[in-house]
Amino acid sequence: MSERPLLPAGILDAAGLNRQHVFDLADLPADISTTLGDTTGFRQLILIGHGGRRLWNRVCAEGSGSEHPIDDFVVRTVTAWFGEVAPGRAFRIIYPGATAVGLQRLGLLAGWHHPAPFMVGIDPGWGTWWAYRAAVVADTGFQPSPAVDRNNPCAGCADRPCISACPAGAMDGGHFALPRCLDHRRRPDSTCAFTCLARVACPVGSEHRYDAAQLAHSYGQSLAMLTPPAPTSA
Ligand code: SF4
Ligand code: SF4
Repeated sequence: MSERPLLPAGILDAAGLNRQHVFDLADLPADISTTLGDTTGFRQLILIGHGGRRLWNRVCAEGSGSEHPIDDFVVRTVTAWFGEVAPGRAFRIIYPGATAVGLQRLGLLAGWHHPAPFMVGIDPGWGTWWAYRAAVVADTGFQPSPAVDRNNPCAGCADRPCISACPAGAMDGGHFALPRCLDHRRRPDSTCAFTCLARVACPVGSEHRYDAAQLAHSYGQSLAMLTPPAPTSA
């Protein structure tokens, strides 16, 4: 029996979509499969992420003025890539999109995700400077990816500078108190409007830390979702 081909990822890597994991849909646990919607006609799920700054640099180089420039870039890139590597094969991008895909569960299976104290995924290579960018169901037969074998760097981090760097004390109780974080972020003078000081304080993968513009973009978008629009006069 011939071995299945590896996922050709050169185009994705060049675009900064440099983390990929291929799952056979038949092997996924049921609690994940149910988050994918109707997968009839598809055999695989391809999880795509970015690590580091290259994706943002590519998005900026294209100069998109859209409301969601990263998602728009990702959809364009993944669509063009898939046409190159699997011409004529059916596929559907289910994230970004309306489907509530269980990304963290997939990240755990792929070996990408360990929870940092502030509940962002961390690994020893990228630190927290990576994210899920696309999930694609496809009628393809690529080799399934092995899970990467990486431990949680927080387990060996004695000083835990992320905890003391949080101005809201959101991790002081030994768990992450999301309401404290959100209260602080919503303040007019918040020091976390466009960043997370805990995340920035973590030394792991600091060479991949986003620049100020990318931080402002990412955290500005999440803040906008947290902040109700100001009332307007009639
Ligand atoms: S500072 Fe230490 S405990 Fe905090 S996220 Fe980084 S590695 Fe984990
Ligand atoms: S965004 Fe600010 S308040 Fe929230 S966890 Fe990060 S450092 Fe703490």
